[in-house]
Amino acid sequence: MTKWYEPGAAGYDEQRALFNAMIDRRPRVIAACAGPADVREALEHAIREGLAVAVRSGGHSVAGQSTNDDGLVVDVRPIKGVEIDVVARRARVGSGCTWGEFDAVAQEHGLATTGGRVSTTGVAGLTLGGGSGWLERKYGLSCDNLLAVEMVTADGREIRADETQHQDLLWASKGGGGNFGVVTALEFRLHPVGPAILGGLMAWPLAQGVEVARAYRDWADDAPDELGSGLVVISGPPEEFIPPYLQGEPLIAIAVCWTGDRVAGEDLVQVMRDLSPAVDLVGPMPYAQLQSMIDDPPGLRQYWSADYHDTFPDAAVGVFLDAGAGRPSPLTQHLLLPWGGAVARVEPDSTPLTQRGARWVSHPFATWEDAADDDANIAWVRDYRRANAPFTTGGVYLNFIGDEGDERIKAAFGADKYERLVAIKSEYDPGNVFSGNQNIRPRTTV
Ligand SMILES: Cc1cc2nc3c(=O)[nH]c(=O)nc-3n(C[C@H](O)[C@H](O)[C@H](O)COP(=O)(O)OP(=O)(O)OC[C@H]3O[C@@H](n4cnc5c(N)ncnc54)[C@H](O)[C@@H]3O)c2cc1C
Repeated sequence: MTKWYEPGAAGYDEQRALFNAMIDRRPRVIAACAGPADVREALEHAIREGLAVAVRSGGHSVAGQSTNDDGLVVDVRPIKGVEIDVVARRARVGSGCTWGEFDAVAQEHGLATTGGRVSTTGVAGLTLGGGSGWLERKYGLSCDNLLAVEMVTADGREIRADETQHQDLLWASKGGGGNFGVVTALEFRLHPVGPAILGGLMAWPLAQGVEVARAYRDWADDAPDELGSGLVVISGPPEEFIPPYLQGEPLIAIAVCWTGDRVAGEDLVQVMRDLSPAVDLVGPMPYAQLQSMIDDPPGLRQYWSADYHDTFPDAAVGVFLDAGAGRPSPLTQHLLLPWGGAVARVEPDSTPLTQRGARWVSHPFATWEDAADDDANIAWVRDYRRANAPFTTGGVYLNFIGDEGDERIKAAFGADKYERLVAIKSEYDPGNVFSGNQNIRPRTTV
């Protein structure tokens, strides 16, 4: 049964909060939906009352697109449930689940699919935007493993899109975002993963950045698909596993997720170990633990962006490290992620996402506490993008950016696929009821 939260009601403020503390919007009503019938009721209410609609799952949209001011939020968080078919290696996941909830159940069977790197992110929002995670070079993006979606469309129809019906909608849901309806369930292909994998972090003082970053780039570039990894500039957290002299200091770190043969993984990791990391936490660990290793608490302010690269030459490494050294906030993570492997091997037209062959994704991820520091942190992200521009392809992965305008949305899909998405949007949501997202405008909207 739908639970309605209006301003002043108990729980309203908890319900409206998103992960990004910069987002402080006050919807007219939040409809907490437990199933498709509730979603239909909420949509009917919004249309009857002329309310703008936002759809919320894990609440991790950095731009706050899963809420609004004075509109209606369809909150699917109560739609839980993870069912695993171990023989068929398939999972059916309620759209209110987080990756932590999905991974926990799938890992009981030693199974997983590519999911976000933070356990509190929503399965729905992340997958609908593509879905990048540690397993992607072996198994593709989350959306490459999406077999079916169930959704309620703007006109109240309950639709299942799979390989036999509404194939266009399944295709559009593999990266085209929440543009087409409210997703209530998703089905995924699963793979044997762990439960123990070889993973963790290694870190060096940022003063060694050039040596480590170049070595990492060459290492990750050539690595087998079983290696998921990332390069990140961070500040040493005040944790006992960080030597006191490095706490609060800028570090260059690598994250490792090796899902192949243990001995081969140890040999591979040795290449980076030979650079004598000051912190070495790489070892056997449960995959589900790795999936929450970089979880940040909610309540911090966030602004991010991202770009694709075909190569990451030494000059790009220099720009990356200079920006890392100049982060205004010690909470900011400055990331470089390698794509390639299965991400690149898909049929180019199998999803709406373009430039699947991009080799690297740069991802400045500004995080800070105080509103007084907003301008400095936003400027840092924008300045990095400007300095980094000579090395980028012009393509972008939308899950990693905020609201950066129509041209960036088009750049994520390329002209032909964007037109195909517009045609599908025009069929399923001609009135653009679902506009609170990286919006694809239907042809009929003026
Ligand atoms: C800390 C953090 C870590 C992240 N790590 C990764 C990562 O490793 N890989 C990656 O690819 N991305 C990552 N992201 C980005 C993330 O994938 C996107 O922000 C995604 O949109 C979040 O999904 P959500 O369900 O949590 O968010 P929400 O804010 O609930 O939703 C975001 C958007 O998704 C759509 N949506 C959500 N649920 C539904 C639904 N049921 N039906 C229809 N549309 C829906 C809506 O358009 C909504 O505006 C991360 C984000 C954060 C904050």
